[in-house]
Amino acid sequence: MKFIDETIVDVLAGNGGNGCVSFRREKYVCKGGPDGGDGGHGGNVVIIADKRLSTLIDVSYRRSFKAGRGMHGKGKQMTGASGDHCIMRVPVGTIVHDTNTGMILSDLDEHAKEYVIAKGGRGGRGNMRFVSSTNQTPRDAEDGGEGESFRIRLELKLMADVGLVGFPNAGKSTLISALSNARPKIADYPFTTKKPNLGVIRIDMDKSFVMADIPGLIEGAHQGTGMGIQFLRHIERTRVLLHLIDISDPAHVDPIKSYQTIRHELESYGDILRDLPEIIILTKMDYPELDALKEDYISMFATITDSKVICVSAVSRHGLSELVYAVDAQLFASN
Ligand code: GDP
Ligand code: MG
Repeated sequence: MKFIDETIVDVLAGNGGNGCVSFRREKYVCKGGPDGGDGGHGGNVVIIADKRLSTLIDVSYRRSFKAGRGMHGKGKQMTGASGDHCIMRVPVGTIVHDTNTGMILSDLDEHAKEYVIAKGGRGGRGNMRFVSSTNQTPRDAEDGGEGESFRIRLELKLMADVGLVGFPNAGKSTLISALSNARPKIADYPFTTKKPNLGVIRIDMDKSFVMADIPGLIEGAHQGTGMGIQFLRHIERTRVLLHLIDISDPAHVDPIKSYQTIRHELESYGDILRDLPEIIILTKMDYPELDALKEDYISMFATITDSKVICVSAVSRHGLSELVYAVDAQLFASN
């Protein structure tokens, strides 16, 4: 299924029904009092976060979300029916922006969280409401109020604890599938991963974390090269980045330079990613020739960064428990 993480839609709440002007007509009662009922309220447009959804695609196919109008009031004190609410379901992590002001209206960051984006108009009052000591036969009723309407921008930022970054082919998708229930596409050509994948990693009975695998970055990504940096929004809300480096890759023989290239792309994106804690993961350590280089690389990284370096192989599973342990310490140390 296509992955859509941004879309603009119109939301229109229902108008309220008008109040009614009516007088009681009964056999043998010559002048009945006013009995015009109220109009029904217009329906609201409500946005609800739903954990079963993972993209905004369904929303993006619909240009507008419109709630039902309230019915007009009727004689015999009958209130008009309220309009139906219109429910828009979005993935958890969807942020609602006002397109006029750019302001964030709501952040639907939990399953079942709701936000009334457009309120329906009130039903107008019927003439029986206007009876007073000086006016026993009011001939006025209110019109229903107008429902609110807005144009909004929805932006999905996935909710994950840990984000994977690195060049294409660094081994991100293989790592997430070795650790979690996620089954992303894996192959030895760049940009196999075209949309973010989330995987849940269980540490013990009551502790787990969510990892996000996003398409790889390359030099110039912040200027749109490769798949660009659009997917970085999905790791903005993580609390630790795993920076994967494939030291067996002949295209990237200098791991320090590889590291700095990706860091540069992250920093171009902004402060949020620059300041996130990071763990450097040297991947594919099952290649025997890498064994001898391991210690050298670890000390080389120590000269340029304080970030921890862990060597892993998703194939032999070497280093995976050390990795999970380090992530656990980073995420849950303060609790
Ligand atoms: P991504 O682009 O970063 O997601 O990289 P992938 O996970 O798709 O892996 C790219 C290639 O490297 C694939 O051919 C994988 O089979 C291979 N690969 C990934 N991890 C390992 C590993 O730990 N050991 C070995 N030998 N190959 C790996
Ligand atoms: Mg991948």
